[in-house]
Amino acid sequence: MPTTDAIYEAVEAREEEMVAFLREFLAIETENPPGRNYREGATFLAEAMRTRGYDVEIVEVPTDRVAEHYPERTDHERVNVLGRKGDNPSGRDEPGERDDLGGGGEPRESDEPGEGDDSGPHVHFTGHFDVVPAGEDWTRDPYTPTVEEGRVYGRGSSDMKSGITASLFAVDALEAAGVDIEGSITQSTTVDEETGGFTGLGYLVEEGYVSPDNTDYCVYTECFDASRICLGHRGVLKFHVSTHGEKAHGCMAHDGANAVAAMTDFLTRIETYEADLHERTTEQPVTPDASRRADISPTMVDAGYSENVVPDRCRATFYRVLVPGETVASARREIRELMADTEQATGQTVEYEEIMFAEPTTVPADCTIAETYTDRILDFYDETEPVVSPGSDDQRFVVNDAGIEECIVYGPGLLQQAHVVDEYVPIDQLVTATKVMAASTADLMGVVE
Ligand SMILES: [Zn+2]
Repeated sequence: MPTTDAIYEAVEAREEEMVAFLREFLAIETENPPGRNYREGATFLAEAMRTRGYDVEIVEVPTDRVAEHYPERTDHERVNVLGRKGDNPSGRDEPGERDDLGGGGEPRESDEPGEGDDSGPHVHFTGHFDVVPAGEDWTRDPYTPTVEEGRVYGRGSSDMKSGITASLFAVDALEAAGVDIEGSITQSTTVDEETGGFTGLGYLVEEGYVSPDNTDYCVYTECFDASRICLGHRGVLKFHVSTHGEKAHGCMAHDGANAVAAMTDFLTRIETYEADLHERTTEQPVTPDASRRADISPTMVDAGYSENVVPDRCRATFYRVLVPGETVASARREIRELMADTEQATGQTVEYEEIMFAEPTTVPADCTIAETYTDRILDFYDETEPVVSPGSDDQRFVVNDAGIEECIVYGPGLLQQAHVVDEYVPIDQLVTATKVMAASTADLMGVVE
């Protein structure tokens, strides 16, 4: 049986190759919005997986499905990539293909992962390859990645092309160290996470590519630092509220109904609501500590035509954050009640338009995958504490929608480097996270000393 030392050495031997791969990957400008060059990114990743012996499937999202989630953003293709190796994940193969796996020439009957299934666990690594726009203020070219003082600079280096790089090279290292892949490894690389993930990992879950039938353990390789795992995230509800009054000339304002006045009434109620939400704290280890509470912020306000017209319409946009234990449905109800109060107080119509939601998600710190990764992290750090993300990410699709609790977030990128100018990832983080992924995978498969 290979040793973990052999696995760690195999990762170290690949450091240069990993950095070169990451730089090539970062040079593909996959900014979202608007969602540029997804085809090019997917082709690069598909090729990387094919040369590593994965069975590769390109999963494109049909335009009508895109339109359901992004009605104004259907003008570019959504291209996701899925690669599998090892035994076929039990849920997605044809019965006839399983004869050599299930014993006795019979198709396996059990759909329970790990039960009646001697082919080992099915481990799924997933990451997104869209990046947020680089913006103007970089001191380097965001898409000409450079290496300086042990860091790789480039848009997406932390969030999160280094995560995808790590999971690919973790499996390379396992194989190089002589580990036989028991069960299966799936790598999925998806798009549109930065705009909600519905046409990325959300779509893969909807279509059954990630389900309890084919996935025992899932690692979402988002940037939470190689020194800790992330167990989940707060939820979010983004929406507009509009007030509808009546236009009038400013010199005869009495003839109108000022929509800004009604919005002021609503915003005052939101202020009280915000104070109440701050009392709704969570015991979950949300980082930073100040984010261990529910919240709401008005983020945009828009009204008016001219300085002499009483506006008949005012629209405000809100960002409501939910702590674990809250639901989007209950948050919607609370907003509706405040809207009804404003309608009653002002006599104006108040309208709600939802932009996007994500339910809060958390998995227990003592689930198998969390404990396995935690143990391996301690090979490199004196201590580690799991965190919960202040924002939302794609983990919710796997946990909430696919119903897979054995799903953590772990990757080499630094949270504080996500979405900033001159984004970088430290190379030692990349190497350490790759080692942790490789050794943890071997542990989950029970194939290491
Ligand atoms: Zn990300």
